[in-house]
Amino acid sequence: MSSDYIAIVGLEIHVQLKTHSKMFCACPVEFGATPNTHTCPVCLGLPGALPVMNEEALRLTILAGLMLHCKIADICKFDRKSYYYPDVAKNYQISQYDMPLCLGGGIPLHDLAYPKDAQKTIANKDKVVRLTRIHLEEDVAKSFHLENTSGIDFNRSGTPLMEIVTEADIDSPEEAFACLTSLKQHLLYAGVSDADMEKGQMRCDVNVSVRPKGTEKFGTKIELKNLNTISGVRRALAYEIERQIGIVSAGGSLQQETRRWDDDLGETQLMRVKESAHDYRYFPDPDLMPVKTTELLAVAKSVLPETPAQKRTRYENDFGVSSYDAAVLADNLDLGSYFERAATNSPRGKQIANWILNDLQSALSAAGQSIATCAILPSYLDALVAFVADGKINGKQAKEVFAEMFSTGRDPAVIVEEKGLKQESDAGAIGELCDQVIAANPQSVADYQAGKTAALNFLKGQVMKLSKGKANPTLAGELLAQKLN
Ligand SMILES: [Zn+2]
Repeated sequence: MSSDYIAIVGLEIHVQLKTHSKMFCACPVEFGATPNTHTCPVCLGLPGALPVMNEEALRLTILAGLMLHCKIADICKFDRKSYYYPDVAKNYQISQYDMPLCLGGGIPLHDLAYPKDAQKTIANKDKVVRLTRIHLEEDVAKSFHLENTSGIDFNRSGTPLMEIVTEADIDSPEEAFACLTSLKQHLLYAGVSDADMEKGQMRCDVNVSVRPKGTEKFGTKIELKNLNTISGVRRALAYEIERQIGIVSAGGSLQQETRRWDDDLGETQLMRVKESAHDYRYFPDPDLMPVKTTELLAVAKSVLPETPAQKRTRYENDFGVSSYDAAVLADNLDLGSYFERAATNSPRGKQIANWILNDLQSALSAAGQSIATCAILPSYLDALVAFVADGKINGKQAKEVFAEMFSTGRDPAVIVEEKGLKQESDAGAIGELCDQVIAANPQSVADYQAGKTAALNFLKGQVMKLSKGKANPTLAGELLAQKLN
């Protein structure tokens, strides 16, 4: 991005809630069902059908609001947003206008939420993107276009939808990426949505403008649609910011418009020009009473899980892991859960974290598996780490046992027994090996005694080799040093 300009970005994110039934009727919510099999007079928008509110959707939205430190309104209200469109059969969508469920709050951007290649150059550490509001509405039906005809699937019509609106706080494509990643993580933690963008469970519209540095007046705001992935949002913004700067810096002017992102071509394209602000003629839905949130809020508070930030801090404090390791473990719910099962009641949390983040992660990725299907029981991983810590086996032997555990899921105690893998920690026996090595390597001995400390590692390696990998390497090093000094 040209350093003479600043970009101003705000997001509007729609999130499908993980409820069993729709927002205002009892039809099931199911992704991928045969079109128009989950419908009734309410979600088909037939005249005279009466909506009945889904309490679970209200509770989940409050839960999301609490996770993001929003203020939960004492009373919220549903309004009719009027518009005419094939996928809105009743010519209005039920939404919330002036009394949304959640106000304020924010999305914290931690380092790992940024794209991997941008984590070393974060411009604003620990930034929080402020939220304007979160409101609840119903999703519309889905239009699809075939070669000669178009169709509408009403299965989606009436699905509970949370709209999360951020302030225009975002400065770069990387921050937008981090904002969506962190939001998704908070939603997964709260269990309110699976937030899978590719399944349309989380959809994002982006507002972006640019202005020359040092000026106050906001540039023309342009809206981007059709963003299906978080990395797509980053790419679309990178393109669009450069496009806008190119036009403005060449003396041109921009118009308020909505543009579509084409990920294959890697460019935004004009969809429509905004000639005037929409007037949706909002008015309170006469079929739905305003909702007092006191009781729902109490229930939500009683089941409120910890936030990702709280979990990271707990891992550092309770298990003694580094802040980076805590962040990686807390980044993935399954990974964190595995770690906790292995490390709770173990004094070896830090070593367990090392095994998970190094050996286990790389074994899983090499095998194309995820932690959820890992064959090693968490308690067995702790047992393996304990064998090393207690000096029963050495690090090299532990890798061998680990490989066997990973492919068979067997108890490390049994594997150690069967393979006869016991670390030799008898000073007499190792001392004899040291003597043999010293006698056989006069040059290295002379090097070491002349001050080349690295020669000791070579000699230690020879002792390990002679013991067929069974010697306690620390003890071998100590005995060699004793003998040579
Ligand atoms: Zn229905």
